[in-house]
Amino acid sequence: MGRVTVELLVVSPMSSAPKPRLKILHVASEIAPHAKVGGLADVVSALTKTMPELGHETRAILPKYGFLEPNNNWEALPDPLAVHLGHGEVAIAQLWHVPHGKGTIVMVDYESHYGGDTVYWFNKDNCPRYAFLCRAVIDYCHKYQWFPDVIHCHDWHSGLVPVYLNTTEVPYRLHRSASLMTIHNMQHQGETDVATLTYANLPESCRHEAGLLQGGKLNMLKAGLTHATKLSTVSSNYAREIQTEPYGCGLDPLLRRRAQDLRGILNGIDTQTWNPATDPFLPANYNVDDLSGKARCKEALQTALGLEQNPTVPVFGTIARLFEQKGLDLLVEIMDGLMQDMAIQVAVLGSGDPKLETAFRDFASRYPGRIGCYIGYNAQLSHIVEAGSDFFLMPSRFEPCGLNQMYSMAYGTLPIVRETGGLADSVEQYDAQLNKGSGFLFREISGHALYHTIGWACQVYYDEPEAFLELRKRAMRQDLSWEHSAGLYHDLYLWAVDTRLRGLGYLAPNTPAPFTLPKIPAV
Ligand code: ADP
Repeated sequence: MGRVTVELLVVSPMSSAPKPRLKILHVASEIAPHAKVGGLADVVSALTKTMPELGHETRAILPKYGFLEPNNNWEALPDPLAVHLGHGEVAIAQLWHVPHGKGTIVMVDYESHYGGDTVYWFNKDNCPRYAFLCRAVIDYCHKYQWFPDVIHCHDWHSGLVPVYLNTTEVPYRLHRSASLMTIHNMQHQGETDVATLTYANLPESCRHEAGLLQGGKLNMLKAGLTHATKLSTVSSNYAREIQTEPYGCGLDPLLRRRAQDLRGILNGIDTQTWNPATDPFLPANYNVDDLSGKARCKEALQTALGLEQNPTVPVFGTIARLFEQKGLDLLVEIMDGLMQDMAIQVAVLGSGDPKLETAFRDFASRYPGRIGCYIGYNAQLSHIVEAGSDFFLMPSRFEPCGLNQMYSMAYGTLPIVRETGGLADSVEQYDAQLNKGSGFLFREISGHALYHTIGWACQVYYDEPEAFLELRKRAMRQDLSWEHSAGLYHDLYLWAVDTRLRGLGYLAPNTPAPFTLPKIPAV
């Protein structure tokens, strides 16, 4: 067994206490701003940027999708990467290094998997594409002799990486790397034919390992959750929920078995991108002490979505992938009632289920000036919806963390959310008596509950303007940045490294960790 401690330690110039400096590698399918479909991209981006601030060397590896155009900041690495697949097949990929804050993105350029103009393929199996990425991670580390202390795997796309670390990598240095598997959404698990394991050059024995299979298929998320050193998800509440049958999507028994290794860390928001005081997408900036710019944003939103110009009517905005998870079918259910009973405007930005898209388009034509919608993806408009609305609707059936409710609070737009997952962890119920809260929550998954909560918010807006303003300012004053969460990830990384090295016998049972091991409270 080799000595490892020296590699982990550098001495901080500020104090004599040794500070661990880790090599961290993120593996993911999305990173903002290059390839974004949902919140995952924002999280991977923020962690890749933030961890170097804490002294860690950080890279993120992901596909170079066909729609990405290299620019002068991109460095094409001179040697191609040989990716060692099954049956002795060797695929040749081009690599790019792209600076990302003080971190680096490694883009794997392999046309037949990643060419094309979308991140994910529709109606076609995405699993071999990401199995390829996982194999490329291993080959990259070997080729460049860059051995991470922790490989941070995000969602099912990276789920085979921990399997390599525990199987094919046993004779090599990479075996020492700890792995952290983070669940951003339990619903997507990467299920495919077991033959993908052979394609990925994993041992034959994996084809029969229960920890990798679900219903006779390879389940890439399950594989990662079985093999990773530690597990996490993006809120404590969701960490508890996914251990139960209604939220576990079939993997709750495994998560209950691994409960000791599972933690929840709420995402932060990237305050460089999402800050109303500096946001370049807005027609006017504002802050908690001077909200005048927010009125101009409301005007811009009303113009953009064809709503009647009216500064006094409350605007209820929403931005979402229009899928069942987000619960916007509940809004559809009650929309006529809302229009009849309340003086409000509704602004919808999203795309997804064609039935929902059509429903919102129909509403916009039936209630001109009162309902506006933009069906599609539009980053600039998403900032204007956040800034120009008074309330933000997020009636999700489940929500691992959710970012939009946090952007909303930062922009003084009060979230109306279902009490689930990260929504419950990040939004505090308004309490008029105690003068507390940052938004409005409801529990029941029903149009009825949503209707009444919108009614309550509307009543506060019209009848208690001072309380409303106070609530808006309280929401804006919160610290929603990554700083706190990044510190918690740092602790989780140290915990994973310690567990890995001890588990492999590189640290004897009674020897202290080569760094101060933080206390990690259970969920
Ligand atoms: P999820 O990751 O489940 O989609 P989140 O609330 O965590 O939900 O994050 C969604 C992210 O995607 C936010 O940054 C949101 O602004 C963005 N987004 C979603 N749909 C659209 C859209 N149609 N146009 C612009 N941005 C969108």
